Amino acid sequence: MKMILLGPPGAGKGTMAVRIKDELNIPHISTGDLFRAAIKNQTELGVKVKAIIDRGDLVPDELTVALVEERLSQGDTEKGYILDGFPRTTGQADALAVFSAIDVVINFTVKEEEIIRRLSGRRLCRECGAGYHVESIPPKQEGICDKCGGELYVRDDDQIDSIRNRLNVYAGSTEPLISYYTDKGLIKDVDAGRAPEEVFADVKKLIG
Ligand code: AMP
Repeated sequence: MKMILLGPPGAGKGTMAVRIKDELNIPHISTGDLFRAAIKNQTELGVKVKAIIDRGDLVPDELTVALVEERLSQGDTEKGYILDGFPRTTGQADALAVFSAIDVVINFTVKEEEIIRRLSGRRLCRECGAGYHVESIPPKQEGICDKCGGELYVRDDDQIDSIRNRLNVYAGSTEPLISYYTDKGLIKDVDAGRAPEEVFADVKKLIG
């Protein structure tokens, strides 16, 4: 199954992608994760995109599409894949349609106040990437990952100014994809303003 997870930042696409990956055994491809890995490894791409990502703006389509096209050409995507955070513009969606056919687009909906609450409290482990939230999923010891003992940090783009910019960018550039994929008959809506177990129960019904 080839699927796209659509929705604003903080909708929980990444959390659901990990669960779907375990359920269907297909790769989870997050452009945000690929860019963060490039930044961490200080590759040419990473150096180019760091400031853009820190501000919460979108990386240009040419760079993003090339990254995804390369990733989808790898053998593990034959049975299907989960695209998390891509496409984010209609230009990216048009480019994707040229090199792959999509089976379903799951559209996660969540209110803006809840997004801000989630993103501003989000903490991530520097070592293993595990996610926490200061109120809803606190680590046992503040600032330390329960799983590996790594240091927890706040993403630069989870600062309030960047969060607001990302929401504006989402509304302007990414939200039009809802009607784009509705017109193609591919959209399935899921209310993502609930606990992960409830959201996943609905997702499971959609993916069979
Ligand atoms: P995410 O982890 O999906 O929230 O992505 C983090 C950041 O990476 C975004 O705010 C963008 O700056 C960049 N990014 C991720 N995916 C894309 C994409 N499909 N197009 C452009 N920029 C992207």
